[in-house]
Amino acid sequence: MSVKQLQVDILNLKNQNDVTILAHYYQPIEIQEIADYVGDSLGLSRTAKEEVNTEYIIFAGVNFMAETASILNQDKHVLIPNPESCCPMAAYLTPEKVIKFKKEYPGLPVVMYVNSTAAVKAESDICCTSANAVKIVERISREYNVDSVLFGPDANLADYTEQISGIKCLKMPENGHCYVHSQITIEDIKIVKKKYPNAKLIVHPECIRGVRELSDYVGSTTRMYNYVRDNSSTDNEFIIGTEVGLLERLTQDFPGKNFYLAKDKLICYNMKKHNLELIKYILENLDDKAFEVKVPPEIARRALKPIEKMLD
Ligand code: SF4
Repeated sequence: MSVKQLQVDILNLKNQNDVTILAHYYQPIEIQEIADYVGDSLGLSRTAKEEVNTEYIIFAGVNFMAETASILNQDKHVLIPNPESCCPMAAYLTPEKVIKFKKEYPGLPVVMYVNSTAAVKAESDICCTSANAVKIVERISREYNVDSVLFGPDANLADYTEQISGIKCLKMPENGHCYVHSQITIEDIKIVKKKYPNAKLIVHPECIRGVRELSDYVGSTTRMYNYVRDNSSTDNEFIIGTEVGLLERLTQDFPGKNFYLAKDKLICYNMKKHNLELIKYILENLDDKAFEVKVPPEIARRALKPIEKMLD
């Protein structure tokens, strides 16, 4: 069946049922096209909480995102097209590891990047995303009257947040990273800048410090999108330092501008585990429990606090 036909079938099925489809910017473009909302982790968390009124939510993203949507919408059914779509960065932390860090640094608040499991969030004081990490760390350090926080699991985001806020972000663990962003090297940037000398370089804070320092702008995927949208018409070339899905979205939304990937194959294979066939199958089988994301009630109750504290 063609992509177009699958998309038509999905939209028809969606209209016949009480369903909202949420998709992350890193989803294949054909999934972004049929979604009701496309965004980054923060945007989708907010949307799930504030704007979704349907009984079913199909979440095209990795499973920590679907878990967050489920925690925020315990009266709804949150379904993930491929339950094996997970984030390797989240696997760097377990609740036991967080408890160990807390014992080692008593009194320091735990700031947890949303790219973490619900069980890990349950051990945290506040969550953050790449869009709000600096604000969150500033706020929580004021609240606890400390100049250091425990920050996990992304060491690069911790480093970026510490650089901007001036507040020490102790990494939990030292080497947590995203394999997509951290593969971009300084050498890659020098090569791509030489090739496109007039292009603005915009990168994600999960990139290593050396790459961030060579860039014109550092921001979450939504902020990168907005930077392109709001940039004057004289800046028509952009080098994109994040997953290829954002570049596909930008290419579609801003046909007058040119986009280049910071290096080849910036692909999150975990995000790409979903496809239109799976979404169509779910819409035809909404009560198939194999696709439903459920967080154990006690973990959900404890994880809700740091998520809501962030959203507040
Ligand atoms: S892009 Fe990186 S952080 Fe995002 S889901 Fe993929 S592996 Fe995880």
